Amino acid sequence: MTTTHDSTPSLRRRGLLKGTGAAAIATAAGGGGLAAAQAASPTVRLRWLGTNAWELSTDTATVLIDPWVSRFPTGAYTPEGADPETEIEVHRDVVDEHLPKADTILVTHGHWDHIADVPYVAEKTGATVLGTETHLNLLRAMDAPAEQLSQVVGGELYRFTNEAGAEYTVEVFKSSHSTRGEHKQIQFGGTLPGRAPKRPKRIKDLVEGGSLTYLVDFGGVSFFNLGSASFHEHEIEGIRPTVLFLQPGGGHSPDFVERLLAATGYPPYVVASHWDDFDEPLTEPAEIGADWRPLRDRVAAASPDTEFIVIDHLESHEF
Ligand SMILES: [Zn+2]
Repeated sequence: MTTTHDSTPSLRRRGLLKGTGAAAIATAAGGGGLAAAQAASPTVRLRWLGTNAWELSTDTATVLIDPWVSRFPTGAYTPEGADPETEIEVHRDVVDEHLPKADTILVTHGHWDHIADVPYVAEKTGATVLGTETHLNLLRAMDAPAEQLSQVVGGELYRFTNEAGAEYTVEVFKSSHSTRGEHKQIQFGGTLPGRAPKRPKRIKDLVEGGSLTYLVDFGGVSFFNLGSASFHEHEIEGIRPTVLFLQPGGGHSPDFVERLLAATGYPPYVVASHWDDFDEPLTEPAEIGADWRPLRDRVAAASPDTEFIVIDHLESHEF
C-alpha cells in the first residue's frame, strides 16, 4: 500500500465544476432523439462520504455504495499498514448524521472500511442490501436484518422501484480484490460460506469474501463502481457508464487504468474514489492516503475527452 502524507489537494469544488452532466450532454448532442432522451434523464446527485462510500440520490431514490463513515483509526496508511487487531467500532451518531436514508445498499466486498456500518444503516433505513454469501454472513453475524439481505454472485440485473415512483436498475458483475506484495495477496482474504460466523470483533474478522462491481442506471445516467482497484474485463464488456469511479492501486494489473477506460467505452466522467486517508476525520477536507493525481494524468492521456472529477468529503456533484 502506498503511503503519501503530503499536502491536501486543491480540489475542484462543486461551484467550479462545469455544467451538470445530463444537461451538458444534451446540449452537445443537439436536436433529435438522443438529446431528447438525455434531457429526460433524472438529475442524480453524487455525494462522497470518504473511502468508497457514495450516496447516489434523485428526488425519489437513494442508493448507497459501501456506506462506511465510522472511520475509527487503524493505521491503514502508515508504513506498517492497518493493525489487524483493531477492534471494530460503529459510531451510530455519525451514521445518523451523514446517512439519513437509503433504498438500496451495494456491498463491493467485506473489508471493514466498506461493510462495518452496513448492519446499522440497513436496520435504520430498511434498505435492500446486495452482497455475496460471505458478505451477507458477515452482516448477519453483526445483527443486520436478515430479511433485507439479497445474495448475488455477479450477472444479476435487477429493477428497483419504490413507493415514491423511483425506478432504477442495478447490474452486478463478478470481480476480484486488488492484491499487494510480492505474492499478489488479498488483505484479509478468504470466504465464510455456509452458516454465519461468530460476531466479527476485529478488522481482520471482516474478510474480503469475494468482490463485486456494480452498474447503477437511473435511466440515461449510470454509474459503474469498483470497490477496489480491480475488475474482470470480460464480465463488463460492453457497459457504457456515464460515470466511472476510479481509485488508486491496481499496480499488479498491466495498464489497469487504460484497460478499464477502454472496457467501459471511455466514459464522459471519471470520479476519483477511495483515495483519502480514512484515519483522518470525514468532517475535514480529505487528506491524501493514496494519491489521485497520477490517475488524473493517466485518464487525461488515455481519454482526453473524459472529465476527471475530484469531490471533497461530504460534497456533491450533480449529473
Ligand atoms: Zn478492500
